[in-house]
Formats: sequence, structure tokens, C-alpha cells
Amino acid sequence: MSGGFELPLRDDLVGEESYGAPQLDVAARLNVNENPFSVPAHLARAMGDAVAEAAIGLNRYPDRDAVALRAALRDYIAAESGVRVDVDQIWAANGSNEVMQQLFLAFGGPGRVAITFDPTYSMYPEYARDTFTEYVTYPRADDFRIDVAEARRVIAEREPSIVILTSPNNPTGTALPLEDIAHIAEAAQQVGAVIIIDEAYAEFRHEGVASACVLFDEHPNLVVSRTMSKAFALAGARLGYAVAADPALVSALMVVRLPYHLSAVTQAVARTALEHADVLQAQVSLVREERDALAEWLESEGFEVAPSDANFLLFGQFADRASVWQGLLDRGVLIRQTGPEGWLRVTVGTPEENGMFRSALQDVMQDEAAGRRGESR
Ligand SMILES: *Cc1c(COP(=O)(O)O)cnc(C)c1O
Repeated sequence: MSGGFELPLRDDLVGEESYGAPQLDVAARLNVNENPFSVPAHLARAMGDAVAEAAIGLNRYPDRDAVALRAALRDYIAAESGVRVDVDQIWAANGSNEVMQQLFLAFGGPGRVAITFDPTYSMYPEYARDTFTEYVTYPRADDFRIDVAEARRVIAEREPSIVILTSPNNPTGTALPLEDIAHIAEAAQQVGAVIIIDEAYAEFRHEGVASACVLFDEHPNLVVSRTMSKAFALAGARLGYAVAADPALVSALMVVRLPYHLSAVTQAVARTALEHADVLQAQVSLVREERDALAEWLESEGFEVAPSDANFLLFGQFADRASVWQGLLDRGVLIRQTGPEGWLRVTVGTPEENGMFRSALQDVMQDEAAGRRGESR
């Protein structure tokens, strides 16, 4: 420590803290929307083989443009969403967090505005701050959808360069109707803005809910952000990607990306996972079933549950959500205090974990009720 030296930290970063949900070693970790199932052993071995092969070539820089991986992602999107794009409409990076940061680097910046609708993902303000983009939010409706007429009005008024819609939304689980996305995309187009649809949870959507990729033909300003962190059970690998209506958008991201940003190891792991997408899809189906069953159970217990097309549920409403959250943690179940006051978010876990959550919640609610009776005595 050299006494008295003050780091020349940017003024706007003074007092800022680093992002972080608690990483606690408890029995049921249902707080950051991870896939609860580990990577199947045979797939893990295939990844190991692919990494070993890549390792021989680690004296060389990786394929800077990750072309083979992007081709695999293109085929996956065609199968998953029924939309066929070219490799030059796909971009990959270290998690969709990096994709999003690159989008802000390319399309945000000083004097520019990004608009989104709250409650939504807590990372967006950080991308905006780090790229000196003004971040403006407008409230979602009571059902957590977006008032389209109001959205179109504020976009015309503020003239953003970026509009972000999260669908299915985090932390509410809400999927936006396709026609709403189309109408908002049109308003964005009129002011020259790109519109990002963050589809981190797309694979968990109900039957009949379409990906915004189907709108590419009509909306050249549209880009869909996806990730392998959730459905592919690969949060630890860090692979996110963008699918864009216009190859020019991908070219813009290639300007701002760091050189060789995506390691050969990451590319090998992601490609192997994509070759086994069908195995992982079976786990996704189980999570969807568990989600719908858990939502039904919460409602039967008298809770309000936001309709969810994701792998988590926002439920409430609690007079003191902090106390319920702590009560669950005391019983080995970690969930998330996020979203509007009075609500809590639980990630759908394995059937065993969901069972632990249900009994812990019943227990906590009994304690809460007893506490209230105690107070009034
Ligand atoms: C989890 C999540 C992501 C994924 O981030 P990665 O960097 O790909 O792990 C993106 N957007 C939202 C809304 C999320 O909840």
C-alpha cells in the first residue's frame, strides 16, 4: 500500500459495486436461472475429446470469426425457430452479456439513448454505463406486458439508437406477443434505432410462442440475442450469440470486438454441445413440465404467479419478502429477491430441488403466519 495515492477512477464509477448474486453452497440453488441438470456424462466426455483436439492447436490464435461455430448456430436456429439465416447474420461471443456489450459499443455511446421497459434484466444499465450510453426505462403494464401505443410514443419522443425488449422477460417470465414486438420494431425503425430482443430463455417458451427471428424479413433493424447458458446447461462455458436481420449489424459487432475474443476451447465446447442439442432438449422439456407444475402448485397455495415462458417463476405477493427469502435460505433453499417489491423469483430446479422448495416455502409461510399472530397478541 502506497499511502495517500488515489486511483484515477472514472468519476461515474466512484462508489459503484461489482455485479453479483450470492454464490452460496446450499442444498438447492434456485437463484440465477441456471439449468439444474448437469451436462450428461457422455456429452462431457465428447467435450473433453474436442478440447483435447483443440489443445494441440493452442499455440495458434483461434478462428477470429468462429465461422464453424456460427454455421452450427445457424443450423440450430433453423431447427429451433424455423428461420433460416446465413452465417454472416450470426455472431458469437463470451455469453450474451458480451454480445450485448458489443451491441452497446457499436450502437450506443455518448449522446445516445437506450430504452427498455422495467422490471427487466439488471445488467442492461451496466452495459449502458460502461459505454456512456444514456439508459432510459419505462414501466411495463401490471401484467408485465408492454403498452405498445405508449412504447411507440416514447420511442418517437426520445429517438433512442437502441431499444431492448426481453422476451421471455427476466425476472417476470413474460413472453411478448409477436405483433407487439413487430409494432415496436417498426417505431424503432422510424427513428433509426436497432431493436434487440433478448431471448435468453427462448427454448423454455410454450408451444405456439414464436421467436422474434420470424420477423427478420420485415424488420432490418432487428437483432435477437440468445445464449447457451440456460437451455444448453452451459452457463460455465460462456457462449452467447446474436442472430441479426441484416449482416451489416454483425459487421458492426466485428469492428468493436476484441481480437480473438472467443477462445478455441470455448468454440470446441460449444460446437460439441450443438451436435448434441437433442439430448439437451430432453432436459429442457422436463424443466418446462416442472415449471408448469410448480406454477400450478404455487397458485393452489394461494400465491399470485406471473405467467412464465422461462425456466423461473415470479410469485408473491409478500408483505415482507426479505423475511420469506431469509426463511427459505435458512432451510437450504436459495432463491432471488428481485423484481417489483413484494415478489420473489424462483428458478425451476430438478424435481428433488422443487420438492425442497415447496416444503420449505410451506414451512416458512407457517412461521410467518405464527409470527403475525404472535405480534397481535
Ligand atoms: C441469463 C440471462 C442472459 C444470459 O447471459 P449469458 O452472458 O449468456 O450467461 C441474458 N439475458 C438475460 C435476460 C438473462 O436472464
